[in-house]
Amino acid sequence: MAKRDYYEILGVSKGASEDELKKAYRKMAIKYHPDKNPDNPEAEEQFKEAAEAYEVLSNAEKRAQYDRFGHEGMRGGFGGGAGGGMNMEDIFSQFGDIFGGGGSPFESFFGGGGGGRRQRKGSALRIKLKLTLEEIANGVEKKIKVNRLINAEGVTFKTCPTCGGSGQMKKVVNTMLGQMVSATTCSTCSGSGQVIDKRPPGVDSTGLEMQEEVIPIKIPAGVGDGMQLSMSGKGNMAPGGGVPGDLLIVIEEIEHESLKRDGTNVVYDLYVNFADAALGQSMEVPTIDGKVRIKLDPGTQSGKILRLRGKGIKDINGYGKGDQLIHVNVWTPKKLSKEETEILEKLRESENFQPKPGKGEKGFFDRVREFF
Ligand SMILES: [Zn+2]
Repeated sequence: MAKRDYYEILGVSKGASEDELKKAYRKMAIKYHPDKNPDNPEAEEQFKEAAEAYEVLSNAEKRAQYDRFGHEGMRGGFGGGAGGGMNMEDIFSQFGDIFGGGGSPFESFFGGGGGGRRQRKGSALRIKLKLTLEEIANGVEKKIKVNRLINAEGVTFKTCPTCGGSGQMKKVVNTMLGQMVSATTCSTCSGSGQVIDKRPPGVDSTGLEMQEEVIPIKIPAGVGDGMQLSMSGKGNMAPGGGVPGDLLIVIEEIEHESLKRDGTNVVYDLYVNFADAALGQSMEVPTIDGKVRIKLDPGTQSGKILRLRGKGIKDINGYGKGDQLIHVNVWTPKKLSKEETEILEKLRESENFQPKPGKGEKGFFDRVREFF
């Protein structure tokens, strides 16, 4: 089979810059990487082809030779792999040189940069935040104190003696595809490539120290009990620098003394005496926004539900606001005086006092169905 043109293999023009070559090769290497194409000899061939093309074109001297003489000019002059191209081991060992930094290029390939070393992320910090129903209803801004691990000052680092700064330990394994180099994270430095050289007293072995910090946070309206909010980068810092972890805020709802939450609605149990229910009365009820005066119509039945529109909780996704539902309970006195007993004895026989539920009276079942 005739050898394909190196420029064609990488899909670049003859005048391609070093950077263009690198990008093109990176793309090919990711696409045909054996880890992504297990048991696919075709992909392996393309992977090798691309590596060979890049090996030549990325070297100014070899590239000039290839430009002048084509594949003929490369015979015997290329990587010691005359005729047969490169084997997998060659390719894997070449990557380090190609991308510099001494680290495994697969980290920079698949880890999205970072000079070949793994970017460490700090651990997440989890705090509980208690909120009142009022705070939940409208959203609130809070300043919270957290103890987070930060990179201590005065700490110096040196290159990890175990992995030589690459952050990885390489192991050669025999596979069906030939020898492959597998890389595992260095256990001494956990992949950072650095270990602590000197540290001031009080700083732990990872170079971190605890510091109290006040962090302002904006709680959106409508959060629920147990809900977890996340602030990226406000958690613990990573040893030796890197990406700080997230701050996780777990919401706890403080029980309101008289209002109960039901989704975006707020439910209030109103107890009225029989006289007020029968005669009608104006009265105050608590809401999230303070007290509101309502009018109880004469002849209000126990169990009636009144609705205060828009007096509920904002929906967390912005779908409007709930209502306050007032559940009317007519209170029956538990003990009566002699005089009260006499009055009620007279009323007991009154025609008007006999229950006559009409169609307008909603039973328990209807009311439940109406609201839920
Ligand atoms: Zn190490």
